[in-house]
Amino acid sequence: MNAHARAAERLVRDDARLHWHDAAVWNVRAKRDRAAQAVPDWEALRDAASRIKLHTLSRLPEYLEEFERKALALGARVHWAADAAEHNAIVLGLLRERGVTRLVKSKSMLTEECHLNPELEKAGIEVVDTDLGERIVQLAHEPPSHIVLPAVHMKREEIGDLFHRTIGTPAGLSDPKQLTEAARQHLRAKFMASQAGLTGVNFAVAETGGFVVCTNEGNADLGVSLPPIHIACMGVEKIVPSPGELAVFLRLLARSATGQPITTYTSHFHGPRPGARMHIVIVDHGRSRILAREEYRSALKCIRCAACMNTCPVYRRSGGHSYGVTVPGPIGSVLAPHIDAKKHADLPFASSLCGSCSDVCPVRIDLHHQLLTWRGELAARGLVPLHKRVVSRISRWVLARTWAYRVMGKLVRMFAPYLPNPWTRQRDLPPMPRESFRAQWRRRGGQG
Ligand code: SF4
Repeated sequence: MNAHARAAERLVRDDARLHWHDAAVWNVRAKRDRAAQAVPDWEALRDAASRIKLHTLSRLPEYLEEFERKALALGARVHWAADAAEHNAIVLGLLRERGVTRLVKSKSMLTEECHLNPELEKAGIEVVDTDLGERIVQLAHEPPSHIVLPAVHMKREEIGDLFHRTIGTPAGLSDPKQLTEAARQHLRAKFMASQAGLTGVNFAVAETGGFVVCTNEGNADLGVSLPPIHIACMGVEKIVPSPGELAVFLRLLARSATGQPITTYTSHFHGPRPGARMHIVIVDHGRSRILAREEYRSALKCIRCAACMNTCPVYRRSGGHSYGVTVPGPIGSVLAPHIDAKKHADLPFASSLCGSCSDVCPVRIDLHHQLLTWRGELAARGLVPLHKRVVSRISRWVLARTWAYRVMGKLVRMFAPYLPNPWTRQRDLPPMPRESFRAQWRRRGGQG
């Protein structure tokens, strides 16, 4: 069993939790479908978004340099980080320079990817994640399991217990409104005491030097409105040429992520507010490597909406933690091997290749094709375990011979109930039919 399958076992063995998680995430996918169907030009928007991203990626250095010039002119300071270590050192240096010991952060998958929090905490800085889901997983000492809904793996009763242990709410509280109110009171004190605020960047606009941060809780705005320093961390791929293109992405992002027409707060930042400082850290961390690989380049179009994981049958039934990376699901399985192909060689196999991820992706990333391409590449590089290679060879041989396929089908039907694999035992599918598909089809009136 590979690392992903082993890590997924915890959720797979807990049948009730597995179904609950599957249904919770699928519910978000269903909301996305309703929101998308309500926009008549949805498919045209997806085409436009894909084209804008491909165009921007083809001129990435020029647009990034233009963004830097305009951001500097607005009074921001711009820093460039080649990798996670440089990113963390820059942020730590900026905080140390101003004697900051208390930082509030809004949701930023990039800082999760760079493991910023532990680095700052090691240096004696208190880091408080202010997005509710992020704060929940931070209090639980867990990584997020989803990029939009970081605590989607936790039930409200578990959050109630966690809040009781960590922030002193009454025991047994599980009403979402009361829990949210308790978190709001707890976070308000952190906002008031903060000395610096850090945000991610959803979109940076080359033509203006400004950037946009989307949240549903207003925590990014509060986090950077009170303290005198705003640090914004962005991956190089977050750039769009001009404000006109923003409209396309803002219409797609919230609908694809949560089924909302737009995020509750879509905040535009143009330079520091009077008397404050703004630092923008532009981070590569492996993105140039992806840009250089034509077959995977389009993965950089990703706007981190999470629609691909919400629809993915493997993500929904294995949970985000099983991937062992910050960005799980289909897009995470495409991105992670670029960072460390050996370590993450199992992830491109954590997919049914059904193509549902590509179907919902608002920027039309060919996710399932890229997963398949990775499988071939990993096999060619000798990074696929021997048992998987043997099974693949046998499958290829069997699938090429009708008689062998029939014999194998009979054997599988005969032995399926005795297989030791928990996936097979706990499937909620009806028992396999004794009759082949072709025989059923003929019996129902199909042609031979
Ligand atoms: S790959 Fe597409 S669907 Fe998945 S998170 Fe990125 S933009 Fe969203």
